[in-house]
Amino acid sequence: MAQYQAKYNPLVFFDKSMSDLRTTYRHLQDTLSELERTHGKRIRLLAVSKSQPASLIRECTELGQRAFGENYVQEALAKMAELQALELEWHLIGPLQSKKCRAVAEGFAWVQTIDREKIIPLLAEFRPRDAQPLNVLIQVNVDHAPSKAGCLPAQISLLAEKIAQYPELRLRGLMAIPQPDPDTLATAFARMQTLFTELQQQYPAIDTLSMGMSDDFPMAAGYGATLVRVGSALFGQRPTSPEAL
Ligand SMILES: *Cc1c(COP(=O)(O)O)cnc(C)c1O
Repeated sequence: MAQYQAKYNPLVFFDKSMSDLRTTYRHLQDTLSELERTHGKRIRLLAVSKSQPASLIRECTELGQRAFGENYVQEALAKMAELQALELEWHLIGPLQSKKCRAVAEGFAWVQTIDREKIIPLLAEFRPRDAQPLNVLIQVNVDHAPSKAGCLPAQISLLAEKIAQYPELRLRGLMAIPQPDPDTLATAFARMQTLFTELQQQYPAIDTLSMGMSDDFPMAAGYGATLVRVGSALFGQRPTSPEAL
């Protein structure tokens, strides 16, 4: 654990003043390749495009990126419509309200924020019959933060069992957004790694542990992350989104 702690210094990984997307993207890919070599496994990049315009997403696709993460359903739907021809892979990484389940099941390929039972049958019901199963991750409130989204670790098996009942859904693994506190981050990532390994014993097909953001993804990679969600280190600081206020 100590070795990753020592490495954790967000400022050395990215120079956030780099403005050219191509340069930043290459740098990010190089960093990920190096982490893949170090840890001996594939690490996918989810480009977090919330609050960013469709034009910037398009530019990023020209560099080879296909998977994009969005937090706000309305905002995402508008971008999906505008970029429809590009056939991108959209991930919902923000909270999911029941009333948005139809739109989400129709538009997204992945939902990373399953944290309660109620939305599971709704997503299955609304998944279009001609679409591939919706890939889902169970979001875990790993530091038991009172105001945070995510289920408690003890609830993971129940949610996984529920998901497994629906052929329209495909359980892929776990997701977490730990508190960005350097004193607790390593413990939180390690805990997620353990929870993922335990779940994998019951569901051997799961392959995705989504954790790590701009400031901490190199550290998350050291604890088994297979998908990192990077926004500001790729696109620069976010313009304020009206929905985020
Ligand atoms: C915004 C967001 C990110 C990306 O955050 P950055 O610090 O900009 O990389 C990743 N995951 C989730 C769930 C987010 O809401």
